[in-house]
Amino acid sequence: MSKNSFPVFDGHNDTLLRLVMAAQKGEPLDFINGENNLQIDLKKAQAGHFAGGFFAMFTPSLPRKTRRAFSTSNPQMGEPIDQDRATDFTNEMIDCALDLVARCDVLKICLTAADIAAAIKASQIAILLHIEGAEAIGPDFDGLEQLYARGLRSIGPVWSRHNIFANGVPFSFPGSPDQGDGLTDLGKELVRRCNQMGIMLDTSHLNEKGFWDIVKISTKPVVATHSNVHELSASPRNLTDDQLRAISESQGVVGLNFATGFLRADGRHDRSDVPLDTLIAHLDYMLEKLGEDGVAIGSDFDGCRLPDEIGDVAGLPNLTAAMAKAGYSDDLIDKITHKNWISLLARTWGD
Ligand code: ZN
Repeated sequence: MSKNSFPVFDGHNDTLLRLVMAAQKGEPLDFINGENNLQIDLKKAQAGHFAGGFFAMFTPSLPRKTRRAFSTSNPQMGEPIDQDRATDFTNEMIDCALDLVARCDVLKICLTAADIAAAIKASQIAILLHIEGAEAIGPDFDGLEQLYARGLRSIGPVWSRHNIFANGVPFSFPGSPDQGDGLTDLGKELVRRCNQMGIMLDTSHLNEKGFWDIVKISTKPVVATHSNVHELSASPRNLTDDQLRAISESQGVVGLNFATGFLRADGRHDRSDVPLDTLIAHLDYMLEKLGEDGVAIGSDFDGCRLPDEIGDVAGLPNLTAAMAKAGYSDDLIDKITHKNWISLLARTWGD
């Protein structure tokens, strides 16, 4: 008989972005006490045994004064952004996280893998600050030190929009991740500095040449926080067998993304009728290529359309029940839901 509750430490959510954008529009959302349409808030998180995860900080391309909603299908989202805007926006998201933690002792900013393990043990929600697209870090890398000092411990050098470090993959479907050039010289230097400082590097959204540059240069395990299997859903955002093999050889981790468009064989982001079996199929494939220590969760909560059977973070137990039904042992589910991320971070950060 399987356990019925597994804490889930998750590789990716966009909840801070949604909170800051709502506040900027003058329509703030109450994460701690409110009724709202967030996919993660405190009440739903506790109902779903959400133990925290990578809280991504992404700066949208459009000027803040616009009321047009963020959407990856809006071509303007690919417009490059300048460092000042990204720095201000990122600091607002960090302020938002610090404010939540100050007002609610269930929430905790975590700087080490031991912090995360302790938070989970204490039934807290661990917040790991991550930036998705390193525009807030300029060519002199001053921003890197400043953000590290504020708690940043993980970086995706690029979102699906080019910057001074790298080129991201577009969302066109079907498509190969092999589009565009690899890391720039500054991007290669960013990898070396993150290795030295103990900042995890994320390859999700990076194009394939940039991915191979990280495989070559980085001294740490290779990670894709929220990407799926290209063989099952041919999005450029998903990982080819060669990429999965390289991640496995580095003893890295891939987090399963719940976005329907990265799960479905037809790539449709507008359909939520995706059975849990489809998520299990991606997990099975990843387990075959990466082994039991290389597979984790990277939901994309608050950044995507979710399968109906998950709905929001309160639906996580439906997924763990599907894993048990598919024959995964409690030990394996523990690894996928939180132990693999903690172990990966300990090996990456050296704690
Ligand atoms: Zn993303």
